[in-house]
Amino acid sequence: MPLVNTKEMFLKAYQGHYAIPAFNVDNVDVMKAVLKAAENTKSPVIIAISSGALKFIGENYIREVMDCAMKEITVPVALHLDHGKSVELCKKCVDLGFTSVMIDASSCEFEENIRQTKEVVEYAHSHNVSVESELGAIAGIEDEVCVDDKYGHFTHPDDVIEFVSKTGIDSLAIAIGTAHGAYKFKPGQKPQLRFDILEEIEARLPNFPLVLHGASSVPQASLKILNSYGGKMPEAIGIPEAMLLEASKHAVCKINVGTDIRVAYVGGLRKALVENPEKFDLRTFIAPAMDAVTALCEDKIKNVFNSAGHAND
Ligand SMILES: [Zn+2]
Repeated sequence: MPLVNTKEMFLKAYQGHYAIPAFNVDNVDVMKAVLKAAENTKSPVIIAISSGALKFIGENYIREVMDCAMKEITVPVALHLDHGKSVELCKKCVDLGFTSVMIDASSCEFEENIRQTKEVVEYAHSHNVSVESELGAIAGIEDEVCVDDKYGHFTHPDDVIEFVSKTGIDSLAIAIGTAHGAYKFKPGQKPQLRFDILEEIEARLPNFPLVLHGASSVPQASLKILNSYGGKMPEAIGIPEAMLLEASKHAVCKINVGTDIRVAYVGGLRKALVENPEKFDLRTFIAPAMDAVTALCEDKIKNVFNSAGHAND
């Protein structure tokens, strides 16, 4: 099956009240483990590549490896650049054969964000590649200092119509209380997504796909395995999966997961290393790490994204 862009995927997800998982992959093993989970559950999936992963895997490898993988895959798969920090990088990924790119100029002023996003959209759309952009600061509740402003650093619903219509993007990443990484909240702080803001944005942009970043839940079972076998990750609180499931029933059509995959992989790897000290066949260690990623992704596909069985919608 050829790679697809995200346009059709999001339309179906929107209508079907589920979300497409965007799993961050750091190497080819994780890519294979994620694709296996999508195939096993018959779910569409987005393979998300950060600029760091692009460098690590090698830009010329990625499309070739994906093309090989797709010979065996029967579910829709999009290859997506996550957090493209420059117009040039986005254009390069379009040229490399990515089917979706994210331009992240969210730290720029509103007008500059529009300008850069528009430039990427013009180039990407002429190559049948979809574009995601970000509005608002997906930082963390700890950064929330504007207590007198209802919206603070979150995406302001008043801005979204202008941003989407001026840029022509296909999906919009919004800030409603998620944060990147494992340590999103201060101890004792309660994770809360701002469903009131989500609903306001949804009302202004009917039928438009929204995206959540920083949505790892840091499953305690994965963390426990990692720490039981020599890891020293401090306690971490993620976004409760019930909140993500709720969001995926709204206009949220794509949810990004990175941290949870890393924790699962490293946990699986540490466990295999400790349990097999006499072995040196590296597959003894890497296969269980990949299996841990597949299990985690399957669980999320079924219980968080609600996307299982939607491959042939
Ligand atoms: Zn992100």
